[in-house]
Amino acid sequence: MPELPEVETIARGLANVVVGKTIASVDIRLPKMAIAPPGVDFVRALAGESITGVSRRGKYVVMGLASGRKLVTSLRMTGRLVVQQDGEAEYKGTHIVFHYMDGTRLSFADLRTFGRMRLVEPGEVWDKSLGLEPLSKGFTPEGFIGMLSGRTTPIKALLLDQQRIAGIGNIYACEALWDAGIKPGRPAKALTKPAVRRLHRAIIEVLTRAIKMRGTSVDDYVDAEGLQGGFQNVLAVYGKKDEPCPRCGKPIVRTVLAQRGTWWCRNCQR
Ligand SMILES: [Zn+2]
Repeated sequence: MPELPEVETIARGLANVVVGKTIASVDIRLPKMAIAPPGVDFVRALAGESITGVSRRGKYVVMGLASGRKLVTSLRMTGRLVVQQDGEAEYKGTHIVFHYMDGTRLSFADLRTFGRMRLVEPGEVWDKSLGLEPLSKGFTPEGFIGMLSGRTTPIKALLLDQQRIAGIGNIYACEALWDAGIKPGRPAKALTKPAVRRLHRAIIEVLTRAIKMRGTSVDDYVDAEGLQGGFQNVLAVYGKKDEPCPRCGKPIVRTVLAQRGTWWCRNCQR
């Protein structure tokens, strides 16, 4: 499932190729995946629109349009946004296709069909349920200490809560907790201040490094050009059950926490 670094990589890749392009037509094969405001027709509203910018918020790709509207895409489990030349073979599970005036197209493919594309009106606040961006100046060690204080939630579950911090998923929660030497199941409030500061630094460091390596391709994630990321080659614990911990050599364990597989080192994560 694409998390912050993967979505950031997709958004940057798209920005390089689709900004300035004008949509000639839109082809929707699975209507549930395209959501428009009441009274607005998705296909008609988008024909003739130009792309003014592409950015990321949490795990969402946000395309700015010349009308002031935005197109917000949630990739969920298996969604892909890939730019192709007209005539190039389609990805399996392509459900929405934007044909640009210049003969290229943007395909939204999603085998499991949980992904959504939502057209948002100018000025409409679509992200009010999303928390802080962990790579923004607003995410401070002191703010993070405040966020955790008094919470009995296991620290890993709190990291996955998009209403508190937006963009961290299972891969980077596991990696950041390993990096900081913190047991995933510890109640958030039981972390010492130095531990919270370590975790704060680890979150920023892990996400920044993963963006540099263009994300993690452990499942079917590819960027906007259809290329895999590189962070799967340097993962410390995620998906590494029984492999030696890169820090202490003891075997990595897999447990289940908040219904998610959780990989960690019993020896050096306390
Ligand atoms: Zn270890």
